[in-house]
Amino acid sequence: MAKQQFKAESKRLLDMMINSIYTHKEIFLRELISNASDAIDKRHFRSLTDASLVPENGYEIRLTADTDARTLTISDNGIGMTKDELENNLGVIAQSGSLAFKKENQTEDTDIIGQFGVGFYASFMVASNVRVISKACGETQAYVWESDGADGYTIEPGEKDSFGTDIILTIKPNQENENGDVEEGYDEFLETYRLAGLVRKYSDYIRYPIKMLMPHS
Ligand code: ADP
Ligand code: MG
Repeated sequence: MAKQQFKAESKRLLDMMINSIYTHKEIFLRELISNASDAIDKRHFRSLTDASLVPENGYEIRLTADTDARTLTISDNGIGMTKDELENNLGVIAQSGSLAFKKENQTEDTDIIGQFGVGFYASFMVASNVRVISKACGETQAYVWESDGADGYTIEPGEKDSFGTDIILTIKPNQENENGDVEEGYDEFLETYRLAGLVRKYSDYIRYPIKMLMPHS
């Protein structure tokens, strides 16, 4: 599939988020975990009338930090997304999004990012590439949504065994600038103690187990 353009408003919001908001980058994890939890809620609700959707080993959210690949993966066995849902839900920044909110409720020091969900796109504050592999409940084909940021995304058929969604973030690296100084990247988000701290700080209220995996240590 050819690269699709983000709708104008989402592109603006995405640029704004990636380039001008320097505080609270860590909240991306809260957003992705809350989406995972919402997705599990939806599957659970559907399973009440369709017992085939009850997962064999229960619901869970998994965080996998791979320091070699520099990826952080947030997995859920929730409802998943069809190809159309990937397009409609991730190709347009949530209609209820914080930009509309900000316009209506502008005050000098409202920290929109700190107080309100900025959603899925918060991923791009810490990731240079985001891949979403999803298989919707009841479907046989999985799809992969992928984007490097503001210039667009692709959706292709992919492989996934079980229903649910994997969000794979390639974390921006630490980099040396022209003075030889190390500019901070986001390596911290590949460290389990840091991730565990963020889970405690922001996601304590989540009703599903959040498990942490470190494949190379
Ligand atoms: P919000 O959660 O406020 O709707 P987000 O930007 O966080 O906005 O997410 C946009 C939409 O993408 C969600 O409403 C949902 O439909 C879909 N989505 C995001 N993450 C997942 C996920 N892990 N599983 C299923 N759907 C998801
Ligand atoms: Mg959300």
